[in-house]
Amino acid sequence: MALWSATAGHVHAAPPPVRSVSGFPAHDAKRESTLFGKLRATDAAVIGKAKTRGSFATDGDRLRPVFATPPAEQLWFPEDPAAHLGNGLVRVRMEASASLDLSVLVRQRYSGDPPELLSGYGASLEGQSLRLHRWDRGMVLPLGPEAAIGSKTAPLEKRKTLELVLLMVGPQLVASVYDGDTLEHIATTTAHDTTYAFGCVGVRVGPKHDAKAAITAITAMDAAKHASTVHMPARGRRYGVMPPSDVTPFGNTRYAWIDADALRRLPKALRGAVTAKLATPEGERAVLFLDTVGYERLRRSEVAVLAVDSNIPWKVENEAFRAREGQPAQRRGRGFVLDDSYKDPALVEQLLRAYHERHPKLTELVELGRSHAGRPIWALRIGAAKSRDDVPAVLFNGGHHGSELLAIEYVLDAIDTLLAGHRHDPRVTAWLEQLDIWCVPLVNVDGNHMFVHESRFAIRKNAFDGDGDGHADPFEGVDLNRNYPFGWGGPGSSDAPMHKWYRGPAPGSEPETLAMMGLAERERFAAVLSFHTYGTDVYSSYVVETKRDLEPDVPKAIGIELATAGGVQPNDRSYAVRKGPYPVAGSDQDWYLHEHGTIAFVIEGSHHNPALDVRNEAIAATRPLWMALLDRVRGPWVGGHVRDAAGKPVAAEVHLAEIERFEGERWTTRARDGRFDRAVARPGSYRVVVTPEKGEPFERVVKVGARRTDVEIVVK
Ligand SMILES: [Zn+2]
Repeated sequence: MALWSATAGHVHAAPPPVRSVSGFPAHDAKRESTLFGKLRATDAAVIGKAKTRGSFATDGDRLRPVFATPPAEQLWFPEDPAAHLGNGLVRVRMEASASLDLSVLVRQRYSGDPPELLSGYGASLEGQSLRLHRWDRGMVLPLGPEAAIGSKTAPLEKRKTLELVLLMVGPQLVASVYDGDTLEHIATTTAHDTTYAFGCVGVRVGPKHDAKAAITAITAMDAAKHASTVHMPARGRRYGVMPPSDVTPFGNTRYAWIDADALRRLPKALRGAVTAKLATPEGERAVLFLDTVGYERLRRSEVAVLAVDSNIPWKVENEAFRAREGQPAQRRGRGFVLDDSYKDPALVEQLLRAYHERHPKLTELVELGRSHAGRPIWALRIGAAKSRDDVPAVLFNGGHHGSELLAIEYVLDAIDTLLAGHRHDPRVTAWLEQLDIWCVPLVNVDGNHMFVHESRFAIRKNAFDGDGDGHADPFEGVDLNRNYPFGWGGPGSSDAPMHKWYRGPAPGSEPETLAMMGLAERERFAAVLSFHTYGTDVYSSYVVETKRDLEPDVPKAIGIELATAGGVQPNDRSYAVRKGPYPVAGSDQDWYLHEHGTIAFVIEGSHHNPALDVRNEAIAATRPLWMALLDRVRGPWVGGHVRDAAGKPVAAEVHLAEIERFEGERWTTRARDGRFDRAVARPGSYRVVVTPEKGEPFERVVKVGARRTDVEIVVK
């Protein structure tokens, strides 16, 4: 559907709240046969032949009894073969009145012409009540309970029209009455009876009926005739078989696209549902956000529905993004304008290239890998150290979850702040000279692309086409933050491919996860922040409760320092350190700690995709937190190298004897230069225990002050 490729337009208020009216049986024009009148404004009225007892007028498309004096029972049976059915749906629309005496007949047989001696069922509206009846050769019996269709607060005479829907499934009969204008549910009654299985649809009008209250539509759907087979194709390359994607939109909400010119003819009650107006290559369009009832009312109006789906891309509701898309990056100060919109993979790449071009000596642009869909995952490395082998590496990443747009902004803000501050702000200059800072603003490139450009229901996962039908559905894919190997498969993750916490078929199965793990293997980060939204939380490893923390708990101690530095966020809350707020097995920060001894945190920001002014506040309020981490890696800290006499890196495990481990952690030196980084909670004397791959363990005692202490360990 090409409607998504909109480039300009304007956005109205947020979608209206969805009313809790569900389960309304929408008119199915393909399967429901109209026996009389019309349901949709645009349809031609059907006035078919009928067998009647008594006299009926069909003025225009209104069917009403013309009573003799005194009035007596009258019957109307259409001759249309579609009126004969056993299982299915019968729908009747009528004008409301305080004095109704009318039965919608189903599964009826009768004798004679004019018809007499009814045998079958009917749903009767009598005064202010609804009830099911059975006729046996003219004798009538009530079935099941009576349900009120009028009350003191909502009397029947206050309504204009009613719609009665009768569902028949074997011995089960269900009759419901709705307000014909709002489609609001009024009453339902049910009965179970095995006497009659098949027969004709008709109408019985009793002598007390208000002759002015006409019927305007009668439809019938024969379930037997229209039973449809849903084929489950034998695909499922990797994650099993899933239903075909070309089915009725799911859920209780709909996005309906109409021609913007048709807005004038939109029923008044639906005007509040207009969510966006935008230009498309096909013309000016309006998008309506509707529940199933609102959608049904739109379908029955004069307005043509051009397209309907249960989701729209996020960008349809975001004018700022649509204005930004396709425009070059704009310079501001020593960086670029970041606060004019949220980003997609293309805008992130554009910005990273632009920063690299402006600061070629301070940066390196690195492609870490490619997603399932072939999108590059980009890192910008920032540093001014004489040799990056001599300094700890730190990583900021964002966007493990595709819809968490603010998370990307936190990392872009770090890039901009660092590059603007070098040689202008002594604190920033010190970070760049003494650290090697990696920034990956957007890990989940496919998930983000799908959220922004295809479906706002694509929330966390990586949009992998798991069933192999050539099309990624919004619920497909893997939650990358459940895919890391440490604790993989544990609590808070799911093995169900459509689950929001789907962990993937194997630990580290996803290219995005592998790209991040590969980077960590090469760089052995001293510290990592993974930005997410939202919660105003700092998650400290280990977040899975069954995993035992380090003793002393160095990550938690540092996490508290960061949370404190973060201060009050624009939601009036301060960051708080949490462990296991809910268990999250297979997350990145636990893996970083377990695999490499990295002090890693998930930072859950204060908002989820807020308005841009709140974005700016949130970014500014979280800046002190990541700055505190960069300060903290400069000390107190133990770092250094393990090398041989010739200066070549030595593969070795390096631990601090004072920090106990319980989960089999083996933290080894970096391959390219033998570097290690081990955080400590406070200054003091520490024993560095070195276990070379080939050789005996030995210890070195180091005194750690306020600044980082690097020790050069030579293995003979
Ligand atoms: Zn997240």
